[in-house]
Formats: sequence, structure tokens, C-alpha cells
Amino acid sequence: MNTKTKLLLFVTGMLLILGIATIVNVSLNFREYSIKSATEKATMTADIVKDGLTAHMVNGIMDKRQYFLNQISTNNNKIKKLWIVRAPSVIKQYGEGFNSETIRDEIDKEALKSGKIVEKITETAEETLLRVSVPYNATVSNSINCLSCHDVKQGTTLGAVSMEFDISSMRSSGVYTILRILAINLVFIIIALLLINYFVSPYMNLFEDMQKGIKKAYRGDFTHKFTTNIKQEAPREIVNQLNTLFNKIQSAFGNIKYNLSTFIPQSCISSSDPLQEAKTIIEELSDIYKFKKTIELDTTKEMVYERFIQILHNKFKLHNFSLFEINSTKNKMYLIYNTSDRNSCDISENMPYNQTAYLCRAFRTNAEVISSDFTNLCQECEHHSQEYICLPFNINEEFSLTLTIHFPNSTNFTQINTFIPSIINYLEAAKPVIESKLLTDKLRENSLRDPMTGLYNRRFLEQFIDTLAGQVKREEENYSILMLDVDFFKMVNDTYGHDVGDKVIVAIGKVLKENIRESDLAIRYGGEEFLVLLHNASEEGTLKVAQKIHTAFGEIMFDVGDGETMQKTMSIGISIFPKDAETIWKCIKWADTALYVAKTTGRNKIVRYTNEMSENSELR
Ligand code: GH3
Ligand code: MG
Ligand code: MG
Repeated sequence: MNTKTKLLLFVTGMLLILGIATIVNVSLNFREYSIKSATEKATMTADIVKDGLTAHMVNGIMDKRQYFLNQISTNNNKIKKLWIVRAPSVIKQYGEGFNSETIRDEIDKEALKSGKIVEKITETAEETLLRVSVPYNATVSNSINCLSCHDVKQGTTLGAVSMEFDISSMRSSGVYTILRILAINLVFIIIALLLINYFVSPYMNLFEDMQKGIKKAYRGDFTHKFTTNIKQEAPREIVNQLNTLFNKIQSAFGNIKYNLSTFIPQSCISSSDPLQEAKTIIEELSDIYKFKKTIELDTTKEMVYERFIQILHNKFKLHNFSLFEINSTKNKMYLIYNTSDRNSCDISENMPYNQTAYLCRAFRTNAEVISSDFTNLCQECEHHSQEYICLPFNINEEFSLTLTIHFPNSTNFTQINTFIPSIINYLEAAKPVIESKLLTDKLRENSLRDPMTGLYNRRFLEQFIDTLAGQVKREEENYSILMLDVDFFKMVNDTYGHDVGDKVIVAIGKVLKENIRESDLAIRYGGEEFLVLLHNASEEGTLKVAQKIHTAFGEIMFDVGDGETMQKTMSIGISIFPKDAETIWKCIKWADTALYVAKTTGRNKIVRYTNEMSENSELR
């Protein structure tokens, strides 16, 4: 219901209440007035009767009184009945009067008893009657002295004049009056409504228009054009000012939105409310800015991933997802994080062994993979009952990420879809940081590796060996140290040239990689000297590995040109940390000592360090 109708209904209601109140009031007053005037008339009639009867009495024609009474009631058509009642004192003195002069009802009785006027109104559907009994008491005055005839005390009730008045006309004239008032009220209401409608309508329309515009503005829509047909200057000016204000706001927000949307893709913001839109964009920008500032100070890409994962959990409230890192050069896919114990795709289930990146459809196609598009869209996810979205994201030519989000059913698609652009914004923010971390990792990795063999170099040993040794000691584990050196290597260079020498070195790298475990370390320690650290190997196990390396190397036939081949041998010195020495460096030295012993006692052998070796200065 609009405001104008409400106002008109309100005014009508008020006027109706006023009219009804007036009618009720008038009716009550009218009734009271009618009864009062009928009572007065009865009193007057009673006085006439009383005076008439007194006159009859004085003139000694009391027996003619009935004629007099009949005359009075005949002359007044309102008097339906008129009779007189004798009081006991009069009956005592003069005897019973006519038959008609007896007490007829309780009203007569009451009037005679109290000496006061008693009245009663009887209303039926047909008529309204006023029944009055006016007592006449013995009085003594100049004109009349009742005591001269009556043998009573002054004030004694001598009798009563009883009447029944028909006051039905009062009721009909009351109804007529009420109808007239009602009609006047109705006319007044109609005129009032017409006037209100005429004068107030334009203001009400303006008010409603303003309400509508403000409601739209509240939702962020400032396109409303205010209009009015009011002739007055002031309201017209208000309308113009409102339109100017709304235009300004609309264009200002349009600009803000445009400027902000250059930072964030439009698809991220779903609201049509520019205020809400600006707020959302600014919040998003601020969150991303904070995220970027934080990850820039993180030292490793793993920490960056961790923060991104936190955001997926806390901001996007994702509870079932996996993050993969893909190295396209190696065609390898690594699981970085998984929310549940159960891996989300088959590729990751086989982690870390069979990580073939090209099995990942999102990576291969470089496009979002959405399970709702086709069943079994990604072959690696086909048997899973859950729905999924896989997002590929390239960091650089070599590295990319795949985020797999799982959810119970397709109804969650729309909700997840609204997050996707925002998630991509975070990835975009993280991209240069991850890229720089990858570069740093690569540079670090390169600086720690020997390019010829791919093994760690001496710098790696210097940087990390203390940390690794500390760990091993704390965990009460050990490192077996193998110091390897090719026998008479110089001869190879001298006889066949450096290229063949290099081949031998490369071959050692290969032999070492093939014969040690992932937890072991192989380091090119010097020219043709290698250091192998076997993690948690027993004495026996260490000797076995050393033997395997020794044999494998010894079996290699090096092609030295002209159809000729060459075989080489190596010497190995062994020590065990921390069994043989407190520090790892000391242990390395003991391995070197053992190697020296191997060299000086015939070469092509494996020598386990013993304490005597360090004690015997000749062997050092
Ligand atoms: P020994 O049995 O006592 O070890 O005799 P050796 O001739 O092997 O003596 P040594 O271990 O001192 O020889 C080191 C030689 O290795 C010296 C150097 O010319 C050669 N060398 C070091 N690095 C390289 C390399 O990268 N390539 C080649 N071709 N030779 C290298
Ligand atoms: Mg040598
Ligand atoms: Mg050497």
C-alpha cells in the first residue's frame, strides 16, 4: 500500500471516528435533553393538576375532579395517562377516592413514600414512554395553606400526580438528527479527502519517488531520476539537487569501479552495487597486497605455498583440495599439499614414484578441468564419486601448479566458481615471488652441484655438512664416509688426454648415483676424488657398498680411441661418523687417512680406518 493511500485511509478513519464520537455524543445529549424536558413538562402538568385540585377543593367541587383531569390529558396528546393517587393521610381523613385514584405501581408507591419525583423510561420497539409520579406535599404559603383542610403536618405527602408520557417522537427526531449529522459528516469526509488528495498528492508522490530512489541508492544504484509536478519552487529545487547529487555519485563510482577493475578482473565481482563492488575490490586488493608483501619476505617457495594453502583454507573455506607442482622439463608432478589422507587424483596416489605430469589433463591442456562438463573428463579422476575442478597455473616455462578442488556434489559448482577468479588473483600475486624463489633455488642448486658429474660439490659439503652431522648425532644415527680416488689418474690424462680423463670422472659420478640410496650423499670432493656419505649404514653394509662401487668402476671399459679400451681402478678409504671422531671433518680426515693407507699399500683396495692409522704418523 503506498503512502498516499495510507494517508487517505488514516484521514478517513480519523474523520469517521470523529463523526461517530459526535453522533454518540449528540444522541446521548439529545436523549438526556428530551427526558429532561418531558420531566419538566410532567412537573408543570403536575403543578397545574395540583393547583386545579386545590381550586376544586377550595370551591367545594372536588367530586368534579375527574372531568378536570380528563380535560388536561385530552388537551395534551403527549399525556397518555393521567391519574392521581391519594396518600394514606388523605384516605384517613377523607376516605378512599375514586377507583382510579389508587396506587398503580411501584413508582406511585415510591413517590408517596419519598415525597420526591420518581420517573422511569420504558422503551419498546414501537414507543418510548416516560412514567412520572410527582408527589404533592402539604405546604403553607400566603396563597395556599394545605393545613387548613388537611389534618396533617406541613410537608406530609398528600398524594401524587401520576402520568405516562409518550416521548416516542423524541426518538424519531433523535434518529433524524443523527442521520443528518451522519450525512454532514460524510459530505465533510468526502470534501476533506478530495482536498487532501488535491493538495497532498503531489507531495506524497514526490515522497514515494524519493523513497524509491533512496532504496535503489541503498542497493548502490544511483541511476534514479527524481521527478515532481509540484509547482512550488522549494520542492522543485530539492528534486534538481537530488538529481545532480545522484549523477555525481553515479559517475564517481563508475570511475572508481573502472579504475579498480584494472587491478582485479571484473568477473571477481558479482555485485551490481557500485559501493559494494568498490568495497569488495578494495578488500580483495588489500588482502592480495598483504599476501604479496608477506610472501616477498618468505625465504622459500615452500613457505609461499604454505601461505597460499592457508588462504584456501581460511578465506575460501576449501576443505578438500590438493596442490601440485609440475616440472614440465622433467615431466614430473609433485604433490605439495593434500587436505585429506586420501589423495584426490590417481596421479598423486602413486606419488612420489610414477609422477608423470602429462597424465594431468589440466596441465596438458592448460585449461580448467571441470567434472560437470563431461563425466570422466580427467582419466585420472574418473572413479572418484566427488565433483572436481582442476586449475592449471603457469609459473614459468618450466614450472606450473595445478590446484584440484573437490566437493561433494554439483550444487557447489556455482559457489566454487565465484572463488576461482579470486584464487587466480592470489596465484597471480604469488607468481613473480615463486618465480624468483625458483630462480634462487636453481642458482643455489647450480652453485652447489658439479656440472660435470651432477653430484654435489665441495661448497655443498662446506655449507651443509655441519647441519647434517648435527642431525645425525642428535638422532643417534651415523654417516659412513667413503673417500674415493682413482689410481694413477694422472697417467690417463697424460696418455689419452684430458677428454678421456673427463670421461672417467663422469663415469664415477654415474657409478656412485647407481649404487647409493636417496638418503645418501655423493660429492665431488676434488679433481678425481669423491666423497660418499652413507646414511645409517652398518659397518658391513658400508663395506658392501664400497665394494659394489669399487667393482662397478673397475668393470667399466673406457674407449680410448683406435679401438682400444682401458680399465681403471680406485682406492677407497672408509671412516664412520661419529664412531671414529667427534666431528664430521675429523672423520673426513680419517677417511682420507684410510685412503692414503690404501694408496701407499698397493692401491686398488678398500681400507677401513683404524685408530692406529692416526697414531702412526708415517701413515698420515
Ligand atoms: P694416485 O694413484 O696417487 O692417486 O695417482 P694419481 O695420478 O691419480 O694422482 P692424483 O690423484 O694426485 O692425480 C690427480 C690428477 O687428476 C691431477 C689432475 O691433472 C687430474 N685431474 C683433476 N681434475 C681433473 C679433471 O677434471 N679432468 C681431468 N681430465 N683430470 C683431472
Ligand atoms: Mg688419483
Ligand atoms: Mg687424487
